[in-house]
Amino acid sequence: MKKITVIGTGYVGLVSGACFSEIGNRVICCDVDARKIDLLKKGEIPIYEPGLDQLVEKNTERGMLLFTTEVGEAIEASDIIYIAVGTPMSETGEADMRYVMSAAKKIGEHLNGYKIIVNKSTVPVGTGELVREVVQANKRNPWTQFDVVSNPEFLREGSAISDCMNMDRAVIGSDSEAAREIIAELHAPFRTRIFKTDLESAEMIKYAANTFLATKISFINAIANICERVGADVTDVAEGMGLDSRIGSKFLQAGIGYGGSCFPKDTYALAHIADKAGYDFELLKSVIRTNQRQRLVVLDKLRGTLGSLAGKQIAVLGLAFKPDTDDMRYAPSLTIIPELLKQGAGVRAYDPIAAVTARRELPESVHYCDSIEQAVTGADVCVILTEWKEVLQMDMARLKKLMNQPLIVDGRNCFSLAAMQELGIQYHSVGRRPVH
Ligand code: NAD
Repeated sequence: MKKITVIGTGYVGLVSGACFSEIGNRVICCDVDARKIDLLKKGEIPIYEPGLDQLVEKNTERGMLLFTTEVGEAIEASDIIYIAVGTPMSETGEADMRYVMSAAKKIGEHLNGYKIIVNKSTVPVGTGELVREVVQANKRNPWTQFDVVSNPEFLREGSAISDCMNMDRAVIGSDSEAAREIIAELHAPFRTRIFKTDLESAEMIKYAANTFLATKISFINAIANICERVGADVTDVAEGMGLDSRIGSKFLQAGIGYGGSCFPKDTYALAHIADKAGYDFELLKSVIRTNQRQRLVVLDKLRGTLGSLAGKQIAVLGLAFKPDTDDMRYAPSLTIIPELLKQGAGVRAYDPIAAVTARRELPESVHYCDSIEQAVTGADVCVILTEWKEVLQMDMARLKKLMNQPLIVDGRNCFSLAAMQELGIQYHSVGRRPVH
């Protein structure tokens, strides 16, 4: 059993803290956000993540998972300190490092013996060294030793628990072989592949992996846009491409582009890292531009079918950046819905989970509905922005009856063209032929 403290109890900190406790470690999750910690102490989960409530409940009950706002005390009580605070996009597009640096300062101030400081947040190359300097500069006893490790996180919101418990690999970077070995040991119960490297390479692996996936998405979206113009079907194209084992079928679903808390900020951050290092990462910059433009595809299709949007009632299904999460960070809905309202349309939105978070982000004039049926009743068009299971399984014949006219603009390619044709629904999707 290892004694671990996780600083930052967000999506990553809470999920990894819960998973580390599940495999037999005593974990203290701490956060400066007292509201979050109060909720967790009462057994309530501040975020939506399938399966997380049971895992947290089980491990708090058996005393393996604790929550506190007393970050200093938590640091003193543990041997391994994980930093899992946010590294949001700053105004310049660079990663905002202030939370990581304040966590590092706190660790220095409370370093009461040898500890391994592990960075799980996504951070620019060189941050491990900066953390080392900040801890060194702030430690009370100049003789106290510590090591810094980079162990980036690869979980996906919506399937975070299973991603963590069955991770593809654990990347462990440090210049201390002893520290790498202890962190590798910690991961042994996950029965995953351990990839050991140096600090800088581990930090780079995270950015390289995320921006590569973002590149795949922008690539297939560009192909989708060409497919529409030349009469090909991107779903078939992607399937045919994906059958090649060198390419693989994942991350080849055309749509309205990536969003969420990682890809947008990590692509910007790496472009900045490259610029600073004197390399113009043109490829990545065009991935970012392609993604920004892709969101507008929905608006173009709406204008193409409806003409002016003024006075039109638009049902928007799905607000979160992807299904099974309440995360609204950089969700395409945040670009598309304000534009619809600006053009004079009325928006009736439905999302099974993210509506609460969405209310804080979207203009007040959005009308939130309690069900798909309520949203589509009397609508002139139904726009799909998130492929929630509920959306994939909706009763299309009923939808057709409830709508003012049977018109769907689907940003996620949820339905087969043949099924829509059979139902007599006018259906516009991404990179496929429209059905009239
Ligand atoms: P988050 O915003 O959900 O959580 C961060 C938490 O850190 C917040 O609760 C905040 O209050 C807390 N915090 C900030 N400063 C603190 C401090 N000094 N002491 C204690 N707590 C502090 O962020 P997240 O989505 O969990 O992401 C964390 C990191 O992991 C980011 O670098 C992100 O890029 C990376 N990451 C995220 C995901 C994901 O899917 N969310 C996946 C992989 C990696």
